[in-house]
Amino acid sequence: MSEVSTRTRDVLNTAGESAPVPLIDTFGRAITYLRLSVTDRCDLRCTYCMPERMTFLPKREVLSLEELFNLATGFIERGVTKIRITGGEPLVRRDIIGLFEALGERLGRGLEELTLTTNATQLAVHADALFKAGVRRVNISLDTLDRTRFAELTRRDALPQVLDGIAAAQEAGLRVKLNAVALKGVNEHELPDLIAWAHGRGCDVTLIEVMPLGDVEEDRLDQYLPLSAVRARLEQRWTLRNTTEQTGGPARYVDVADTGGRLGLITPHTNNFCDGCNRLRVTATGQLYPCLGGGERVDLRAALRGDDPQLELAAALDKTMLIKPERHNFRMDERGLAPHLPRHMSMTGG
Ligand code: SAM
Ligand code: SF4
Repeated sequence: MSEVSTRTRDVLNTAGESAPVPLIDTFGRAITYLRLSVTDRCDLRCTYCMPERMTFLPKREVLSLEELFNLATGFIERGVTKIRITGGEPLVRRDIIGLFEALGERLGRGLEELTLTTNATQLAVHADALFKAGVRRVNISLDTLDRTRFAELTRRDALPQVLDGIAAAQEAGLRVKLNAVALKGVNEHELPDLIAWAHGRGCDVTLIEVMPLGDVEEDRLDQYLPLSAVRARLEQRWTLRNTTEQTGGPARYVDVADTGGRLGLITPHTNNFCDGCNRLRVTATGQLYPCLGGGERVDLRAALRGDDPQLELAAALDKTMLIKPERHNFRMDERGLAPHLPRHMSMTGG
């Protein structure tokens, strides 16, 4: 019997009940974190993420809420303790709160944390319901506090809605972390003010380097700003202290002594974080990408829609453990970013 089917058989014992066989890849990394995209659609059009005339997937290709729940449950059964719902914009998906409520029932029963990444345009509407469902922390993407720049960057004039969303989240009791993509010549000079603004409101901030994912209308090289340069500039103004915080992802954290807040720096073009990688990503169509920076893919939708979804899902997860690459292959050539990956971040969810 092959390695895959042996493991699969172990997962499903003879009574057909699941036994907790953890997801451990061939490099010994335990997978405990799932980032699950629930839609590729979005109400913004961030220039580094997608083109203005983005072609979205036909709805029939996207997993139903029930399929998403079954999928997430399959991961929890295999030892995933943290799920981040993402997109596209997760809160534009109709009835998405139902999925949060259903998954929230698993908190304390295998699942330790349920969270989301959102652009916050709809957060004022949903913050209370998310808290009630068991969400305690949200990541909100905000690259600028300047309304005109926001409108240029996202191609929509939605900054007031986003600020309302942030306020509503905090009022509801959700801890907010802001994510900002550092963009050369766009928000680079505003980043210290954005950080100070966030820290003043009790929100940590994470800065992200732009990644070469999908075609957009601008040249990635024009957008790319290395965070080493941002950090050097911040150090002229503030005292930054390295911390030992590790999340299994590409972020490194520093404390800003002057503001009392924490700053994360995501530098995906280095791969010195891959050793501790604990995560998998699933698109809204059920395609599992073991690595954000790699081409490997496993079709979980086929498994979910197969004759024996439980068995086929378990087999697909075993296969994933065999092909999760040791390291990503984003690497800079002498001109800048390479190689380019065809899928947009709005597919894999970041
Ligand atoms: N729509 C939600 C949002 O914006 O928070 C969730 C999905 S979005 C794809 C997740 C994160 O990916 C956001 O923080 C966004 O800024 C980031 N992102 C999108 N495209 C990117 C790219 N090409 N490089 C780096 N970050 C990117
Ligand atoms: Fe939408 Fe998020 Fe992409 Fe911006 S980054 S276009 S908000 S999915």
